[in-house]
Amino acid sequence: MPTLLGIPLDVNSSYLRGAAEAPAKIREALGSDASNRWTELGVDLGVAGRFADAGDLRLKDSPASVADDFAEVERAVGELLEKGEFPVSLGGDHSVTHPILKAFARRYRELTIVHFDAHPDLYDEFEGSRVSHACPFARIMEERLARRLVQVGIRTMNGHQREQAARFGVEVVEMQALPAYERLKIQGPVYISFDMDVLDPGFAPGISHREPGGMTVREAIAHLHAIEGTIVGADVVEYNPRQDISGMTATVAAKIVKEILGKMIVGNGR
Ligand code: MN
Ligand code: MN
Repeated sequence: MPTLLGIPLDVNSSYLRGAAEAPAKIREALGSDASNRWTELGVDLGVAGRFADAGDLRLKDSPASVADDFAEVERAVGELLEKGEFPVSLGGDHSVTHPILKAFARRYRELTIVHFDAHPDLYDEFEGSRVSHACPFARIMEERLARRLVQVGIRTMNGHQREQAARFGVEVVEMQALPAYERLKIQGPVYISFDMDVLDPGFAPGISHREPGGMTVREAIAHLHAIEGTIVGADVVEYNPRQDISGMTATVAAKIVKEILGKMIVGNGR
């Protein structure tokens, strides 16, 4: 069953902290009476047993404890996978995807990652850190934790990251090339990593790195719905409540989580 897991960790953010406060805010928006529990694909998430919630991890979230916190993320995700669940993590900054994928790689050998982001997050190191939220997909590809990495919505590619993408064989679909529904017809298990800054900051201002020219919420949902293959896990990261305006980005993050859950339930035949 899809199972939420809160990961309150933002120590690896390069610019602003605050993403550690996201899990509680997203859950609050998910439960809000401002909307009903149905997803657009016709799944009533209000029915008991549709999805579970494993709560938030207890992390130290300090520079000295990054290795311990990553180990805890990997352990907790691995435990859910052992039980046959489909973890849907609520970040946290994007650094959390590396330890999450370490756990996934043990269970799924032929994983394709569909990565929604304004940024490719492929830096070899960023401001002296190799665990920065600007680096997770370099680590994931170096360690061969996935068979394919398909990035969608990218609009901040620089020379270094182009070299990294070529080196790792990353399939980059830049924002200017959208829509890209055909590129999402994937065979085998799929992991979705959804960085909220893939959305235009006009729709989702509650993020740390506002990069104009991004997706509408509708474009993002259309691309999520277009994914083929079996979705075995996901994360929604980089929501920063400190940058939000009257909780509007929490509502958007909750909508994305709902549609991912609905897609997992419909697509995975459960
Ligand atoms: Mn990112
Ligand atoms: Mn980003």
